[in-house]
Amino acid sequence: MIGTQIKPDYSDKIAEFVKNGGEIKQAVNTNKAEFNYCNADTVLQSAERPNSHQNHILRTRAEKQGLKSYKPVAACKSCGTSERSVKSNICLECDRRRARAKTGLSLKNLEAVGHYLLDKGESVEFTNGGQKYVLKVEVA
Ligand SMILES: [Zn+2]
Repeated sequence: MIGTQIKPDYSDKIAEFVKNGGEIKQAVNTNKAEFNYCNADTVLQSAERPNSHQNHILRTRAEKQGLKSYKPVAACKSCGTSERSVKSNICLECDRRRARAKTGLSLKNLEAVGHYLLDKGESVEFTNGGQKYVLKVEVA
């Protein structure tokens, strides 16, 4: 405890403060970090925007770890899952659903194609809009 008796070499201002009933107390560490504070509203706004600052941080972190997907601040608004591609920042589930809707293939059928290509050790070449593509199975 620091008493109210102070040495004469303290400034007059402090002496006056104590004389007038002021108390000098030791600083208390509250373990609160209030700088760089991210409130609930910011998180909510961030959830609406996949390119938000918070999501960008998470995406960059995942990229540095060599991950292909990352978990954004909030789940996807349209499908409710939370996994985004690090490369394109597209929701993976939405992307899968889009692919399924386009081909009319279910995920099960697509997986069957994957197993087929893997078993045969083959890849399929095809052309679309004058551009050559290759369909192959890779180890994740
Ligand atoms: Zn989605």
